[in-house]
Amino acid sequence: MSAESYDVVVVGGGTGGAFAAATTAKAGLDTVILERKPAEDAGHIACGDAIKGTATFPEVIDLDYLKAESFTNQSVMRAVFENPLTDEDIEIGFRGPGAVLDRKRYGEVILEEAERLGSEIHYDTVVQDVTQAADGTVTGVTGTHKGKAVDYDAEVVIDAAGALSILQEETDFAGTHFDTNVRYSQFCSAYREVIEVDEPVDWDDAIVFKPTEQLGYLWYFPRTPTRINVGVGFQMDQPEMQMISAIEKDIESRPDLKNPTVVDKLGAAVPTRRPYDSAVAPGYVAVGDAAGHVNPTTGGGIPGAAKSAHWAAKRAIAAIEAGDVSEAALWEYNRDVMADFGKHFAAIDCYNIWGTAHDVEELTEIVSAVPAQHLADAMAGKDTGPMGLSLKLRTIKDTFGHWDDLLDLARVRRKTNALVDHYERYPTSPEGFPAWQSFRDDLMDEIYEISGADPKY
Ligand SMILES: Cc1cc2nc3c(=O)[nH]c(=O)nc-3n(C[C@H](O)[C@H](O)[C@H](O)COP(=O)(O)OP(=O)(O)OC[C@H]3O[C@@H](n4cnc5c(N)ncnc54)[C@H](O)[C@@H]3O)c2cc1C
Repeated sequence: MSAESYDVVVVGGGTGGAFAAATTAKAGLDTVILERKPAEDAGHIACGDAIKGTATFPEVIDLDYLKAESFTNQSVMRAVFENPLTDEDIEIGFRGPGAVLDRKRYGEVILEEAERLGSEIHYDTVVQDVTQAADGTVTGVTGTHKGKAVDYDAEVVIDAAGALSILQEETDFAGTHFDTNVRYSQFCSAYREVIEVDEPVDWDDAIVFKPTEQLGYLWYFPRTPTRINVGVGFQMDQPEMQMISAIEKDIESRPDLKNPTVVDKLGAAVPTRRPYDSAVAPGYVAVGDAAGHVNPTTGGGIPGAAKSAHWAAKRAIAAIEAGDVSEAALWEYNRDVMADFGKHFAAIDCYNIWGTAHDVEELTEIVSAVPAQHLADAMAGKDTGPMGLSLKLRTIKDTFGHWDDLLDLARVRRKTNALVDHYERYPTSPEGFPAWQSFRDDLMDEIYEISGADPKY
């Protein structure tokens, strides 16, 4: 069997794969995307389809075309958190309008764009293994195409195969700093249906969340006033949840969802953990879900996959042009991620960790008692400004019985600020990494101690 040879082999044709391939192909590199699904299923991915107002995409593809084709609801102005304990919902306004997508069309367009920019796409191609040189450098992948063995050589392999990527099980990362501290308990299992209802809902300017006992949430994201993405997820370290019946039961409890018909259903795992400490190895870069580039509290990973893939591709292009695809040559990609969303996601993850030491009722009581915008901004590390006296007094009264927890939460927040500062000092080369990691782990130990949670990593 003779191997097909490319500059860059991208495994996976989701958001990460399409943006990576578009970037390398646009720069003139021979690029192929290997996607296990058939062409007609391209873009069919389990997702809530929602994107925050502040989300940005790399300007590598035609973003106006993408939006025109697939952003079916661009008027999402608020998030509503339903409170199972009271009728009082918590509402947080967006700084800019968010969007809900037609996820299949979105997935088709990004692949169409990667192809237009020069990438090949080989569908029905299941990657099963990597090939490595004697010094450990990844030199390609092997797999099957419609049952026939296939073999690809590459200067750089971009792992965009999504959560729990098989490539990472097969690659020998010995001698590198690639993050292999990855466990099922750091993932969320999620399932969604797209339903069509008879009458338009009057909250199509909102994305709606409702907490569940398994430290996850049920969501309603309106693609249009009559087509709604409804889903649920639970943290894999919690008892298994019957997701389909949970959705059915909740839909039934909502009289405004008239005569719901399921038009699509799909489930998958999503990483709800900090970004990989390092996502590079010689000849190999992981992006998107394959590197934990997801907001660990919301599960939002589309923008992170697009951005990280673009940065990884740019570093791969420079490495290939310089004739050096070593770990050190690709290292700056880790800094690209950590300096941008990486440090924030690592900090947000600490609130998940704090949450694992409390049950959902306790959490809901605390969340209900603290003014919504103050809580949202506190978690995002922003300052809402001082509370007025009457709001302060109400908050003191409402949070009675949870002051110890709130004090701990404030202490966790102080540690997360230190964590963000530390991620900003992410080392410029692999040599500085062990000392950086050791200091970070010390900070995490303090967070486990304050919160009383079991270590997540
Ligand atoms: C139920 C659910 C709801 C979500 N809701 C949202 C949301 O509302 N907003 C948001 O921003 N994010 C959401 N996410 C997360 C988001 O979908 C992911 O973060 C994002 O899709 C990651 O993109 P990716 O390219 O890294 O991986 P994926 O989109 O998973 O793409 C991976 C691709 O690799 C292919 N592949 C895998 N293994 C192989 C192999 N061995 N050989 C060949 N091909 C392979 C797969 O078929 C797939 O096409 C949700 C996730 C889930 C599961």
